[in-house]
Amino acid sequence: MRAGQYEWVIDQVHLYVPDALTRDSAGSLAALMRQGGLHAVFQPIVDLKSATVHAHEALIRGPEHSPLHRPEALLRLAQEEGLLYEFELFCLQLSLRRWGKLRQPGRLFLNISANALSRLVDVGGTALLAQGIRNLQVSPRKVVLEITEHERVDDMDALGEVSRTLQSEGLALALDDFGDGRSSLRLWSQLKPDIVKIDKYFSHDIHRSADRLKTLQALLQIADVFGTSLVAEGIEHEAELRVIRDLGIAYGQGWLLGRPGTEVRAEPPREATSVLLDNRVAVLPEQRYVAQRGQLRHLSIIHAPTLTPGTSNDEAAAMFHAHPGLHAMAVVEPDGGGGERPVAILNRQQFMDHYATLYFREIHGRKSCIKHANREPRLIERNFDIEELVGILTSQDQRYLNDGFIVTENGRYVGLGTGDQLVRSVTELRLEAARHANPLTSLPGNIPISLHMQRLLDSGGAFTVCYLDLDNFKPYNDHYGYWRGDEMIRLLARLAAAHSDPQRDFVGHVGGDDFMILFQSEDWRARCERIIATFARQARDLYDEEGRARGGVEAEDRQGVRRFFPCTTVSIGAVRVAGGDYHDAEELATKASLSKHEAKLAGGLHVMADDLAATAAAERPTVHTSLGARADA
Ligand code: C2E
Ligand code: MG
Ligand code: MG
Repeated sequence: MRAGQYEWVIDQVHLYVPDALTRDSAGSLAALMRQGGLHAVFQPIVDLKSATVHAHEALIRGPEHSPLHRPEALLRLAQEEGLLYEFELFCLQLSLRRWGKLRQPGRLFLNISANALSRLVDVGGTALLAQGIRNLQVSPRKVVLEITEHERVDDMDALGEVSRTLQSEGLALALDDFGDGRSSLRLWSQLKPDIVKIDKYFSHDIHRSADRLKTLQALLQIADVFGTSLVAEGIEHEAELRVIRDLGIAYGQGWLLGRPGTEVRAEPPREATSVLLDNRVAVLPEQRYVAQRGQLRHLSIIHAPTLTPGTSNDEAAAMFHAHPGLHAMAVVEPDGGGGERPVAILNRQQFMDHYATLYFREIHGRKSCIKHANREPRLIERNFDIEELVGILTSQDQRYLNDGFIVTENGRYVGLGTGDQLVRSVTELRLEAARHANPLTSLPGNIPISLHMQRLLDSGGAFTVCYLDLDNFKPYNDHYGYWRGDEMIRLLARLAAAHSDPQRDFVGHVGGDDFMILFQSEDWRARCERIIATFARQARDLYDEEGRARGGVEAEDRQGVRRFFPCTTVSIGAVRVAGGDYHDAEELATKASLSKHEAKLAGGLHVMADDLAATAAAERPTVHTSLGARADA
């Protein structure tokens, strides 16, 4: 026993608390602790697969309606009064004692700072700690110590040692609030905690944030490597829970799954259970396709020899002779830092035309080549992104067409490129980007559509693939021009989005006037009918007065014959998938496009004929029996 410390006996276990706590002391926290002003509440941690309560986390509370109700205030005061360690221990005991009395079978998560934990193990050893827990009628195997304030860990190796001895006593370890800006990946890899709790920042609005989604996916991969289970903290809304469940995160915590309370919860609240047992998949937020910088890196740069202002016309001509494939050469100067800075570009064609003229060699042969070079070459930095490259293509300045351009890296010469190369690579990049998101409507393109379709197929649940296509759109386009045609396409995009449920239904833009909606909403048929009707009304408004009055426009048909075409409408082909009918997205997409053709013939909504039986079966009322399984009522 240490000098100056008072022995605090809990059954046979000795934990040490300073005199300040037991003597009358002026400190308000010490008084609160003495007078029983603190109590523990418990918040459930839910197993997201089975929708059952897996554990509870103990959280300390001060007197209700007082400034010391929240743990943050208590912890701050403890710090001020120099009682942080004692306070943390006190909370630990209080929570354990209460849990022991509740005689709950589940696991108990306890908060403790890394420093308090090290000190506790230092003073009494892990065996004694485990014994102390047992004496409070709690099995150490049911206890998970959540390490908070990992940012203050001075000695990671020592903490690693502590965690290993704790684990050997059957206690589990968790890292709390991971990713809150202070936690370290190194601690994760060094401590090998059983559980990592992901800070609530990542759950918040995850159904709207593709970046958070990507981060969680990356953390799941790390967790897989280390064999760690994850808990997502701070789940407040159904949409967040739906995405987190679909990601495959094992456990969740948050207000939606149960608020902290003095009693424990036997099962999660009904709102949460209905989300967890729903076999429909979440619509994940779309990662906006971000054009990567450095696109020119993928473009083959011409590593051409260079000239200097000192190079003579004769020498330049000799170099063009030696390299017949070169369209130009750069004139460079030393930049003072070991590199070369381009100052001009010498165009082969123009230069050689001059060089071939009578007496040119005799008069100008030994003079500098720079006089015939373009002193304002088009420079392109290697890490320009697609938008910057498009900017060059569409600018007034079209020098790149003649001379090509000089590629630089931080202003230093790297090589040359030609105009066609630039046009080709920009086109390719744009096409690639459009496969992710349609530039006209910003809706997800073919890649995300296929990915979502595959997720739906994998889930085994029922859904409907609808393929939307405009009728009499070409005549409208021919008559009013592409700008107004784009308006028509945007109208369809707006209506498709407005009449689908963002949490259940996925709207994608295949290209042109083709759209796809992957419906999980059961009332998909009514939604389609509304899209068709609203579109027919609003599309008329895009015609000018004469067109509206006549109900259409004159235009050439595909055979070049002028005739009258009624106003643009939309047809929808639908394919019902009742689970197990299709395995891959491609097969299903082909089927959907077939049903679109049939819809175009008949007009309006068309459900694929051989799916009618499946539709009837799938639309019978269903009840959920267990997770992922449905049975007919
Ligand atoms: P923590 O360990 O990360 O605990 C989770 C905190 O988030 C709790 O706040 C909880 O009430 C709150 N929370 C739970 N679900 C939601 C949600 O859906 N949305 C939002 N916005 N918040 C949610 P609380 O109880 O105020 O505790 C704050 C922190 O104080 C804890 O963070 C923990 O670090 C510390 N703490 C609490 N009790 C103890 C204790 O007994 N000992 C120690 N050493 N620290 C404690
Ligand atoms: Mg915690
Ligand atoms: Mg936490």
